[in-house]
Amino acid sequence: MATSESGGTPEQHGDQYHTGRESWFTEGTERPDEPQDSGPQRTIHEPARETPVYEETDVLVVGGGPAGCAAAVAARRLGAKVTLVERYNHLGGLSTGGLVIWIDRMSDWEGRQIITGFASEILERLPADAVAGAPQEQWGSREPEPVAHWRERLSAFRDVVTWSPMIDPEWLKYESVELLEEVGARLLLHAWVVDAIVDGRELRGAIFESKEGRRAILAKVVVDTTGDLDVCAAAGAPYESDVEGQGANVQHCVNTAWTWAGIDFAKWVAWKRANPEEHRALFKRGHEELGYLETPHVGWRDDVGLFMGPRLTGYSGLKVADLTAVEIESRRRMTAHLEFFRRHAPGFQDAWLMLSAPQLGVRHTRRLIGTHKMAMEEWREAVRHDDEIGVSPSPSAKFANISVPYGCIVPAELDNVLVGGRHVATDPQTQAFMREIPQCWLTGQAAGVAAALSAGSATAPRALDVRELQHELRRQGVYLQTAGARAAA
Ligand SMILES: Cc1cc2nc3c(=O)[nH]c(=O)nc-3n(C[C@H](O)[C@H](O)[C@H](O)COP(=O)(O)OP(=O)(O)OC[C@H]3O[C@@H](n4cnc5c(N)ncnc54)[C@H](O)[C@@H]3O)c2cc1C
Repeated sequence: MATSESGGTPEQHGDQYHTGRESWFTEGTERPDEPQDSGPQRTIHEPARETPVYEETDVLVVGGGPAGCAAAVAARRLGAKVTLVERYNHLGGLSTGGLVIWIDRMSDWEGRQIITGFASEILERLPADAVAGAPQEQWGSREPEPVAHWRERLSAFRDVVTWSPMIDPEWLKYESVELLEEVGARLLLHAWVVDAIVDGRELRGAIFESKEGRRAILAKVVVDTTGDLDVCAAAGAPYESDVEGQGANVQHCVNTAWTWAGIDFAKWVAWKRANPEEHRALFKRGHEELGYLETPHVGWRDDVGLFMGPRLTGYSGLKVADLTAVEIESRRRMTAHLEFFRRHAPGFQDAWLMLSAPQLGVRHTRRLIGTHKMAMEEWREAVRHDDEIGVSPSPSAKFANISVPYGCIVPAELDNVLVGGRHVATDPQTQAFMREIPQCWLTGQAAGVAAALSAGSATAPRALDVRELQHELRRQGVYLQTAGARAAA
């Protein structure tokens, strides 16, 4: 049986087949048996060449997902010259291009918003009709009525209303670029970083390829927010990964998500509630006809449906043949689901394919070896780190809010580089929530502030005065709970 994000059962969400909330250990559909790619057997020799320097900057941010956007804005606000390089045509990463438009919890079990700073700022910029989430006065509520209402919209978890809205990805793309422009960060889209410029154990910049060819960017400090630790890995930094491991760990799951329009969500919910047996039968039939059935979620509007699966296991987010196979398989399942839902699901008769995600959904590939690894034992024991850079909600009310240490964004074996986002230094259990979008905003913002302080003072990131970092984070609106941080502010 699938388990919910923090170990609860899907039934706790009132739906036997509900696996929508990002799960820690959940069922995926395993890749069919086929010969595994054994890698290239031959090589060719490429002649050495001179690579033009495109520009020199203080802080180079690689990857414009949630972490990268937060990092670029935060660094620029400290006066650093900032360049953000993104391979696709938009900002937001998986939160926009991946159609992961459900921004998971920023509030704790009492309903206090504890992931703040960039998270608050960017969401406040979106127009009211581009954000669908519980009103603040309901956060933390355990009242049955709001819980029942928001559970259907993925904004109630373990019977507590949370601040975890659905957003319109186009507005998030738009506002992310506008914010970068406003603060004066330089943005390069359609530029794919392919290598790191390394001098001993120090990173000096990165090389990107685009329609213009191969170019170098030199930087005082680099922030790797690629999600896949591309820059650090290219520089030879060690990392952890369990994608090759066994079992149906969700971290192995990859998929292209999709949205449909033309849905009558109110009709679907009313039918589900009035006919629980028929609802179960529908999913059973889906399992029989399609092999499994993905749960639909309502998007930021009642006529938009979101499918964050199909979770496919056994594929690597780093292998191009696997990525291709996942794109093809996901879209096959999307059209099969459309036909099934149109035929059988009340409220879906007029559904149509709105979009399959431009960006393939990868939950995990590489994780940094940092100066501190966030681990389950620590947060189960409510450890508060002196070098706290933010606070994450805990997966269950059994645990206190979770202190996020600076060390999880500082590489152990590379200098002049910081990381933010889903590849920060964690164990697998901690990655399961530290990869969520608000937590990526949190670590991205901290990486940006640290990078600017480091570049401005010619101090290596690992040698930074953590009190100064915390002071600046609080000045930028980040919630911290450590005594040191309070004293510094
Ligand atoms: C299907 C799915 C469902 C999920 N569900 C939820 C959910 O419901 N709620 C939630 O909060 N989180 C969810 N997550 C997790 C969350 O979406 C991601 O972990 C989060 O977006 C990671 O942010 P990031 O900035 O670290 O990386 P990403 O969002 O992956 O952004 C990385 C950016 O870097 C760019 N990039 C990568 N490599 C390069 C390169 N070499 N050169 C230039 N640019 C590069 C990418 O194009 C991308 O824009 C889900 C993830 C998936 C895949």
